[in-house]
Amino acid sequence: MLIYGKVVSADTRAKLRTQVEEFEKRAGRKPCLAVIIVGEDPASQTYVRNKIAGCAEVGMRSLHYEYADGTPQSEIEKTLNDLATDDTVDGILVQLPLPKGYDERKLLSLIPDEKDVDGFSPTNLGLLAMNKPRTISCTPFGVMKMLETTGVKLEGKNAVVIGRSNTVGKPMAMLLLNANCTVTVCHSKTENLAEITSKADILVAAIGRPKFVTADMVKDGAIVIDVGINRVDGKLVGDVDFENVEKKASFITPVPGGVGPMTITMLLANTLQAAEAKANK
Ligand code: NAP
Repeated sequence: MLIYGKVVSADTRAKLRTQVEEFEKRAGRKPCLAVIIVGEDPASQTYVRNKIAGCAEVGMRSLHYEYADGTPQSEIEKTLNDLATDDTVDGILVQLPLPKGYDERKLLSLIPDEKDVDGFSPTNLGLLAMNKPRTISCTPFGVMKMLETTGVKLEGKNAVVIGRSNTVGKPMAMLLLNANCTVTVCHSKTENLAEITSKADILVAAIGRPKFVTADMVKDGAIVIDVGINRVDGKLVGDVDFENVEKKASFITPVPGGVGPMTITMLLANTLQAAEAKANK
């Protein structure tokens, strides 16, 4: 069976719209997300446009700061510092990757933990590791929501995550561990990868290599989540060889239309949560 992120995302956004309305009635203002983009990378520009459109769709306010590649870092730092202290701004994100020459760590460090709606800050990652999550990284958070829709009990399941990035693989592994799965994290130095993946009840691919996961690497009846977004000859392709793996999997996410649509939806959910946390202080 397919897990359509598009459908889960539409349901979640419909609920968010109502929650945003309720927040506005209580707080007298809309939740607000500020997005900063540097440079002209077309994929990043599309993501930012979709984030702004997502805010409008659920009734949130958004602020959009666009800087040309070459803008002095100090100028972007000033904007981040202003946004950090602006009480009407609930979430701040800097679209990654930044063009070469910018100090990504320094810029991200200027986002207060409470406004880090990407869930990338050391504190937010640390809280997740301690199973006391506050803001959860959007893509793995979206994957957990999609897993919920299968109705399959996660506890005790053997979960394998391929990829160990701080933004996807690691938080994904921590979320599955917090859900009482037995988790193995694989990466480019993993030996006998196929042997490990073929024992997975839940297999998450977050690698960035088109059709990397082939049918022989997958257990019969596994749940397969494809996080990968690769462009091949102008087409979007996942990290999983969908046509062949689909025949073995009990549930599988397509690309496009799978994990991708959930990511921005969870960003909106994180922004509302940050607004509510501030209002309840
Ligand atoms: P990343 O930072 O490049 O990490 C890729 C991971 O894959 C690394 O841990 C790497 O291992 C591992 N890897 C690379 N080659 C491997 C191999 N041959 N065998 C086993 N592991 C291997 O990428 P990312 O940011 O996590 O993103 C992963 C994919 O998800 C990309 O396609 C990206 O576009 C996509 N993505 C999608 C969404 C969404 O919304 N759907 C959001 C974010 C990312 P090492 O650590 O050893 O190098």
